[in-house]
Amino acid sequence: MKRSAGEALVDGGDIDVESHNRTTDLDNDVMNKNKAASLLHRTVTSLTASTTDDDTDDCIVQSKQKCIEDESIAKTNTKQITRLINARILQQDGTLLSGSLDVSNGLISAIHKDGSLNDEDISSVIEVVDCKGRILSPGYIDIQLNGAYGIDFSNDCIGEEGLKADDVLHVANRLVETGVTSFCPTMVSSSSETYRHIISLMDTARKQQQEEQQVGANILGMHLEGPFFAKTKAGAHDKQHIVSPVNDMSSVEEVYGIDQENIDIVTLAPELPGAYKAIQSMTAANPQSIVVSCGHTEATYDDGIKAVSCGATLLTHLFNAMIPFHHRKPGLVGLLSSEVKLGNMNLKRPFYSLIVDGIHVHESAVCMAYKSHPDGCVLVTDAMAAMGLGDGDHSLGNMKVSIKGDRATLTDSDVLAGSVVSMDMCVKRFHKFTGCSIGEALLCATLHPAQVLKKQSSIGILAVGAKADMILLNDELDVLSTWVDGKQVFQNKILN
Ligand code: ZN
Repeated sequence: MKRSAGEALVDGGDIDVESHNRTTDLDNDVMNKNKAASLLHRTVTSLTASTTDDDTDDCIVQSKQKCIEDESIAKTNTKQITRLINARILQQDGTLLSGSLDVSNGLISAIHKDGSLNDEDISSVIEVVDCKGRILSPGYIDIQLNGAYGIDFSNDCIGEEGLKADDVLHVANRLVETGVTSFCPTMVSSSSETYRHIISLMDTARKQQQEEQQVGANILGMHLEGPFFAKTKAGAHDKQHIVSPVNDMSSVEEVYGIDQENIDIVTLAPELPGAYKAIQSMTAANPQSIVVSCGHTEATYDDGIKAVSCGATLLTHLFNAMIPFHHRKPGLVGLLSSEVKLGNMNLKRPFYSLIVDGIHVHESAVCMAYKSHPDGCVLVTDAMAAMGLGDGDHSLGNMKVSIKGDRATLTDSDVLAGSVVSMDMCVKRFHKFTGCSIGEALLCATLHPAQVLKKQSSIGILAVGAKADMILLNDELDVLSTWVDGKQVFQNKILN
């Protein structure tokens, strides 16, 4: 189904919302002020009555006490809650809890198991959304997205043809249709000038999104793929940019710049000269700490163990652009089953990302990886600019791409041009391929990527205090509605 950008914006009168119980923010301000005024009026009346009928000090003290209590009730009533009822709420262990969830000020303020609500809990509720027994999940987090809807995040043109902050916001605003509520814009190997330009542009886009209170998916820090890759495993990356971090951290700073605050993930080949020291420096605990992932690499199993001991915590698009698993030379894939060996070294197995578009990795390999290390599985789209454009021939920069179904090839050839399958489709396929439960599949696109980024207290989780970034799904895992910061930003008008 093709959806227009306009449909991503939802008005208040949709069918799932009990509109009789709904008021605008302005109305609620007025309502709460009126409530407070009414309570104070009652208090004043009570005070006057007390002093007239029985002019004793005790009565005045009691009335004053009542006044203070009423004022505090008026204050607590200023909390405005949106309550999502009749939901099956995803828990951190992958189970679904039947109950309701409260949202206040953009955060999850309470979760009530069915039967645990009492009448008093309704006083601050200004809006009720009936989820009709459907699944409420945290929004998806895509930690590897190269672009979509015709926009390429690695577009290195300067000037009119180049990437703009508005382009990034356009992608962010459309992604919510696919259930994605946070993403790491990802760049392929580029020149130092391009990295610096786009890292700064993403920062501008993020600030603009916050200042203008845009309704799209959160723009997280960037995922920089390359340029520290094995030349033999460069894949679609431009080999002219591929280098080794020979001067470890100095090489990294030379390429990306010194300010690395806006970088969340760096994918590199750990076996390159200088790479282990660079991993140690990037992952060292400090405000600019970066997640280092191994990818586009010739790394052996032992190289992988060393990379993990230096601080690497992720493997980028497992199976793709790395040496394949062999029973005597298991490569990085062998780390998935090395819980005991790594545990003896006080290390944890790394997370691993998988492109489950049905094309990049065979379903049997998806199953094997997942069964071997379920808690480490992270779904990524690794999608490129053609995602969301639909079937046909498209011009993307200087590349001509033909899309047919889930496959994007360079026009007039069979060469794969990258992934074009959205996250909601990847989750569906993953669920089908592995036979895991719905909840377990959802964790791979929510909690696990949040854990990679060490952001699981705020995103990728439905828990009190976390951001109210959520999606409503049916049992076929179609995205029915999306919320960001507690605001509904998408509703699927056909399936609702
Ligand atoms: Zn890659």
